[in-house]
Amino acid sequence: MKLEEFSDIIHRCFRCGYCKFTYDYADFNCPSYKNFRFETFSTGGRMWLIYALMNNEINWSQRLANILYSCTTCGNCMENCRFDKFNDFLVDIIEIARIEAVKNGFCPEKQKSLLERTLNPEFYNPYGELNSDNQLLKEQYALPETAEWVYFIGCTSNYRQKDLRDATLRFLKKTNINFTLIDEHCCTSPLIRTGQTESVKEIMEYNIDQIKATRAQKVVTSCAGCCRTLKVDFQKHDIDMDVEVYHTSELVNELLEKGKIKFGSNFNKTITYHDPCHLGRHMGLYEIPREVINKIPCVELNEMKRNRENSWCCGAGGGVKIGYPDWAVNVSKERLEEAKKTGADMVVSTCPFCKTNLKDANENFDMDLEIIDLIEIIDSLELKLD
Ligand code: SF4
Ligand code: SF4
Repeated sequence: MKLEEFSDIIHRCFRCGYCKFTYDYADFNCPSYKNFRFETFSTGGRMWLIYALMNNEINWSQRLANILYSCTTCGNCMENCRFDKFNDFLVDIIEIARIEAVKNGFCPEKQKSLLERTLNPEFYNPYGELNSDNQLLKEQYALPETAEWVYFIGCTSNYRQKDLRDATLRFLKKTNINFTLIDEHCCTSPLIRTGQTESVKEIMEYNIDQIKATRAQKVVTSCAGCCRTLKVDFQKHDIDMDVEVYHTSELVNELLEKGKIKFGSNFNKTITYHDPCHLGRHMGLYEIPREVINKIPCVELNEMKRNRENSWCCGAGGGVKIGYPDWAVNVSKERLEEAKKTGADMVVSTCPFCKTNLKDANENFDMDLEIIDLIEIIDSLELKLD
């Protein structure tokens, strides 16, 4: 997609400002505006900057690019902008403007490293970790060469949240899912979110070829970002998919609904659930993780004030974690303060990237909460198979 494709609609933003609030206007819900407190850091401001760029009324500068890059792509603005047929595209427009920033040589330095590391044949991931071809895991879990499912681990689970990855692997084994792993490269989410898209299609094609080589018809992901990329962005890039993509919460829910598994032990905790933006607002998956939670015996789920469409972002997305690390954890701190007010002692999410940033805030600010992924709770329970 190109910015010009939005030339007929971008002027529809008249900076009413609804996009930076929650539905009930009780609080700001755009992390960027709340931090910088200057209109140009809200979506309305960004739309006007982009409009001015498209009409050659202003020139590219690093300051302008930095404003475009200080957005977590959380999608709250898409929920709260009142203009249908325009609001769906707000984050797309910001991401496409970032592509233009890259083309004009204004991608911020820290975000550039995401691309450099991902293209480096020693890494193939944005963390700069030596690439795991996942052969050792395949041996450890006795996984076949061909299977019905591929577990697409994702870089954050594979290199930063191994507990979450291992919990997922154990769960898949315990439930007798016929699955395998591939030598995966980054799903490309960090590149798309930061406008560094030149090599994206090639990387997507590599991953889909690896998946097809296993003859799998289904892919399950741990990560909200991988899930959105595989479900939405692969199609946008005309990748011939022909595989169904699940988030782990969808798979667990399906197994529960079909009666293939039942929980055989209690989880005596009071928890609250944090909606990952790329699972919730970007894909509408609000109720499925909650349905799974509500089927866990003895768990008490207390909702935070801002939940579902109104959830406060964890602050890590859109390249903000690498570009603005201090601001990113401050956004998570606000989320944990909200979590504390529910009386929960555990914050549950369904994304390793949310878990990373929430954990960082928990440690940095001594918040004394437990941060965990839903699949780790499921893995800790006794399972009864049909
Ligand atoms: S993006 Fe939508 S809600 Fe935000 S200022 Fe523009 S028109 Fe108003
Ligand atoms: S995507 Fe989120 S951070 Fe970015 S402008 Fe919209 S509400 Fe603000």
